[in-house]
Amino acid sequence: MKKIKYIRKAAPPHMVGDGFKVRAFIGSDLWKDLSPFLMLDYIEPWHLHPTEFPRGVDVHPHKGFETVSILWEGALAHEDSTGAKGKLFAGDVQWMTAGSGILHKEFHEEEFSRRGGVLHGAQLWVNLPAQYKNTPPSYQDLKKEAIPEMVLPDQKGRIRILAGALKGLQGIARTFTRINIYDIHAQADAVIDFELPPGDNCALLLLKGTILVDDQVTREGDLVVLDPQDDRVKFQTNNTVHVLVLSGEPILEPVVAYGPFVMNTQEEIMEAIDAFQAGKFGKL
Ligand code: MN
Repeated sequence: MKKIKYIRKAAPPHMVGDGFKVRAFIGSDLWKDLSPFLMLDYIEPWHLHPTEFPRGVDVHPHKGFETVSILWEGALAHEDSTGAKGKLFAGDVQWMTAGSGILHKEFHEEEFSRRGGVLHGAQLWVNLPAQYKNTPPSYQDLKKEAIPEMVLPDQKGRIRILAGALKGLQGIARTFTRINIYDIHAQADAVIDFELPPGDNCALLLLKGTILVDDQVTREGDLVVLDPQDDRVKFQTNNTVHVLVLSGEPILEPVVAYGPFVMNTQEEIMEAIDAFQAGKFGKL
């Protein structure tokens, strides 16, 4: 059974653009233990008043990794320099591969903005190995209805497979390295256990409720980093919980990041900045 390595709390909330009040859970100090995950910004349920102009983040670049937007409540709209456009609604996931370089904007969806309501979601940054950092940009719209889901025994909850596989149930996200992401909603007294390839990094993010893992009660707001060596993850729910499981094969390469560019060397960062400034990420 996997042991707890350590537990981290989120940083205080900060704003990303005027549309996302987020709490950062993964920073550079966790890159080694949580590779391939680079960042996780959590948007706590946030009640927004109606507004005529959608809030969000205007045109900005990304290169060398993937951004994964997970939405539990509200609606978002996306547009990028490949010409792709998309809307995300509650339950949807958008998996964007920035790869060789992309420009995009991320806003609240227009109708949702006009109506107001609760926004609740997360954005995860997933690193790409050197050989795929210059892969053409693309994105995958993972619609709620298409995301496979496993019901827990006695109807005690459900596990949505956002990436990877769980007990033979295969998720639909295309990933460049082995990644398992599970979105778990469960009631009290559910036992959740599954196996992961030994050596893969793994963390449990407690978004709601408390669970018992490795004989320790962990609470809402805890990012529980597990020991990668064992293959079995097991925990029990103490009450109604929402848990995000992040797991993946570590990318054993240097990480050099500068804002929205994540490469392997400082030289590649300089090249990325030059390419962006020269307009090589396209137009939006
Ligand atoms: Mn972005």
